[in-house]
Amino acid sequence: MAEEIRVRIAPSPTGRFHIGTARTALFNYLFAKKFNGKFIVRVEDTDKERHDEDSLKDILEGLLWLGMSWDEGPEVGGPYGPYFQQERLGLYEPFVAQLIDKKLAYRCYCTQEELSAEREAQQGKNAAPKYSGHCRNLTATEIDQYEQAGRPSAVRFIVEPQVVSFDDLIKGKVEFDASLFGDFVIQRSDGTPLFVLSNVIDDNLMKISHVLRGEDHLVNTAKQILLAEALGFLSPQFGHFPMILNKDRSKMSKRKNPVSISDDYKAKGFLPDALVNFIALLGWNSGTEREIFSMQELIDEFEINRVGTSPSIFDTEKLLWMNGYYIRQKSIGEVAEAGRVFITNDELQKAVTAKPDFFLNAIALVHDRLKLLSEIEDQIEYFFISPKYEPSLLIAKKSNEANTLAALKSAVKVVSELKTMGLDEVEPALRGAAEDLKIKDGELLWAVRVALSGRDASPGAFELLGVIGKEESVNRIKSAIKKLSTP
Ligand code: GLU
Ligand code: ZN
Repeated sequence: MAEEIRVRIAPSPTGRFHIGTARTALFNYLFAKKFNGKFIVRVEDTDKERHDEDSLKDILEGLLWLGMSWDEGPEVGGPYGPYFQQERLGLYEPFVAQLIDKKLAYRCYCTQEELSAEREAQQGKNAAPKYSGHCRNLTATEIDQYEQAGRPSAVRFIVEPQVVSFDDLIKGKVEFDASLFGDFVIQRSDGTPLFVLSNVIDDNLMKISHVLRGEDHLVNTAKQILLAEALGFLSPQFGHFPMILNKDRSKMSKRKNPVSISDDYKAKGFLPDALVNFIALLGWNSGTEREIFSMQELIDEFEINRVGTSPSIFDTEKLLWMNGYYIRQKSIGEVAEAGRVFITNDELQKAVTAKPDFFLNAIALVHDRLKLLSEIEDQIEYFFISPKYEPSLLIAKKSNEANTLAALKSAVKVVSELKTMGLDEVEPALRGAAEDLKIKDGELLWAVRVALSGRDASPGAFELLGVIGKEESVNRIKSAIKKLSTP
């Protein structure tokens, strides 16, 4: 590719940064980095009413959190700015004037009521609604009359019946019957441009080489190809990503599904590298069975023509698995640091501060079990705070109360006599105790483990004893005995 690769995401700041936008951003980012091109952020905020500052902040912070910084755009600027369409409004007007001059566009004076009536009449005849072209051939006198009457006017682009076709980098040859579009609006009566217009103008002014976006924009692309022709622009190359669906194949929706990067993922304890890896596989694959990729590996491996055309299924289980994988790749210290912010219980937070090494030892034991950083609170709580549990939990499945009591009593004795809490001492001592009692190891180890953790699932008894320590372990086993023997 000779010319410089320049790609962009063009978010409209009307909601939280969501999975779909993140995927569009990621594919553009990977494409840019792969070819040493530029990744640009352009904010499409022409719709003042729906524009919202918080959402812009959420989008930009989300991009950075995922590791995608931009070469041109908000905060960093660049040679083709401004990068907010709100600050570019004056730029669009001359292009509209040019289209009107060349008779490729015209003013439409139809009122909302007239347009609705037209649409209803068409629907009545079971025809797909499209603008009738009423104002296309107004006489000078008619125009004068409308202007005299002070009627507001939008600007419509003339669409002649034709087939629009283009080579999509992902979908191959795509064709649209333009006669279905009707003459569409490019400028509102208040003078602001519509998305189709400002988007195509800015892509041209910003020298965008490739427009890579979701399949929901296919019809816009066809319209924009016509607009680009009329404006004398060379169209960029297009690539459209498949839809993202839920596991039940329903459409992912902002309202019904967890799609917000910051609220549903960052705040729940997902790691950015896991999300990036997961999102990359929403539509793209390497052509092999391989599933784990760092950002750099994605940059190296990414091929736009390996993005598929069938819908991508959002598999939450797989994301959790992947997050667990990335947590396991981190050191104990990193997990401790990243996980601490998820501890909401003040008492526990204080305890963790007071005993930082103990905290690390506890994390080391539960590290492999974590799927989310936010699970840390629940997983380490009993290391610091004596657990509460039902006495019956102490009794292993095939054991009974008498055996369990005997096991716990003997465990107190054995543990009290240990010289160190190393595995090589703890394990033979407890196994020996079970043997002496002529009960199964499992009966004793289960009871001790529950006495220490209060959980039906936890790291094993030997490891727990090692971390919790002799004195506290003995206390917990004693209180387990008390629980079991008090009716
Ligand atoms: N503002 C548009 C959107 O958020 C941009 C689409 C595009 O990438 O061209 O959907
Ligand atoms: Zn009209």
